[in-house]
Amino acid sequence: MAIRPPHVLVIGAGTGGLCLAHGLRRAGISVAVYERHRTRADGLLGYRVGIGPTGSRALRDCLPPELFDIYLATCARSPRYFNVLSQRMQHTASFPLRPDTHPVDTERSVARMTLRQVLLTGMEDVVQFDRTFTRYEQHDDGTVTAHFADGGTATGDLLVAADGTHSAVRRQYLPHAVIRDAGTINIATRIPLTDRTRALLPETVQRGISLIFGTGGVMGVLHVMEFKWDRDGRLKPGVADDDVALLAGWPGLRHDTTRDNINLVVWSTARRFPPDVMQRRGAELIRVALELTANWHPRLRGLLSLADPGSALPIRVSTSEPVPPWKSSTVTLLGDAIHTMTPGRGVGANTALRDANLLRRQLILAAVGEKTLVQAVADYEAAMVPYGFARVADSLNRSGTNGDDRMYQPVFGRLALLGARGYFRVTSRVPRLRRKFVDDFYTYRGEQD
Ligand SMILES: Cc1cc2nc3c(=O)[nH]c(=O)nc-3n(C[C@H](O)[C@H](O)[C@H](O)COP(=O)(O)OP(=O)(O)OC[C@H]3O[C@@H](n4cnc5c(N)ncnc54)[C@H](O)[C@@H]3O)c2cc1C
Repeated sequence: MAIRPPHVLVIGAGTGGLCLAHGLRRAGISVAVYERHRTRADGLLGYRVGIGPTGSRALRDCLPPELFDIYLATCARSPRYFNVLSQRMQHTASFPLRPDTHPVDTERSVARMTLRQVLLTGMEDVVQFDRTFTRYEQHDDGTVTAHFADGGTATGDLLVAADGTHSAVRRQYLPHAVIRDAGTINIATRIPLTDRTRALLPETVQRGISLIFGTGGVMGVLHVMEFKWDRDGRLKPGVADDDVALLAGWPGLRHDTTRDNINLVVWSTARRFPPDVMQRRGAELIRVALELTANWHPRLRGLLSLADPGSALPIRVSTSEPVPPWKSSTVTLLGDAIHTMTPGRGVGANTALRDANLLRRQLILAAVGEKTLVQAVADYEAAMVPYGFARVADSLNRSGTNGDDRMYQPVFGRLALLGARGYFRVTSRVPRLRRKFVDDFYTYRGEQD
């Protein structure tokens, strides 16, 4: 078999696309990434992403070692508790999480914007901004050409769709694939973390992932995001010397406007929102969140009313249908482009990273001539499709991200809420069940191939 290392075209400089690009470059495989955003700071990058062992492992395998250390140094303080709260801020349950001593086997909180800056580090010669992909052509000689809105083209041996939920590559390659509205809407807000806002939260909530199960089918999730830099972007006193050395020289911090904050996301079935909610922004949107949470504890409402209006964002939650098998070729997909999932289990980005790592390994085998490029793609897809759509299914059925969930129905909703609270209460209080809950949490978030 003739060995000619492939040239890979990646559409989309998001979580999965950039991780793949790093992994390929490290392996000496030629790669170019095309991103529609005009600059490295554009896009809806405001909220927190939870990266579990699956995601961190992929980052460790793909990123240059020093950049992986920067990723670790730029994570927010790791959550130590998984809390379940009522709308009145009573603790239904609190599960202690594992200490964050291991670089990979830890649950980490990352700001979306910061992760993007980490992933863009050192990729100036690989990522082209302001290049909106429009269509591709596959040629008889096995190459593939991507066309862009600016009239330009790029030709390579493999085209990877890493262009997210509304993937233009998928629309052409798998036109029968179905992305659908899951029927829920989130309002994401960020509240500056100050002495005043911190004082509104008990210690376990300050140090935890807190899921709020409210009555009337209104849910929330709250994360306190504390970084190693202060509001002026200067490193805080007490940061370890190693991290100071890493971060002081990291150019990404100059592009990153992320500061200590409280991420508070409120969601419910779309029926509970005003019809024009997706057009609302700023104070008007925060007002919608406050109306939805009228019976919530005054401290939670106090936080919402202190949210930065510029951070408030409505998100219509999407999911996807399993795609019947297709014949593998010189076009493939990863992440949300193929298996968009609701945020119900917080694994969309983790799964995109897992895809990137798996595809990287397969492409290395093709590059050294152990298999053909199309066989490598086929082997990647044979593994990715089953686990990807399994995550789609379990994400939809958790945390009320499906607008048709029983919890949004008048009578069943009340029973479902009582059932969920009862489950968490008992599980957190019986040592054997509590241990199993935490073990399952890490097993699920640590899946690997
Ligand atoms: C509210 C919310 C909370 C979430 N929380 C978590 C969490 O805690 N943990 C977790 O694992 N996941 C979480 N997710 C899911 C996660 O954000 C996504 O699954 C993940 O970002 C998908 O990565 P990706 O690389 O596939 O796509 P993206 O990161 O969306 O990247 C796609 C890129 O492609 C670009 N692009 C799109 N079209 C084109 C085009 N035509 N030409 C060129 N470029 C294009 C986009 O601009 C973008 O940069 C959450 C999602 C939501 C909505």
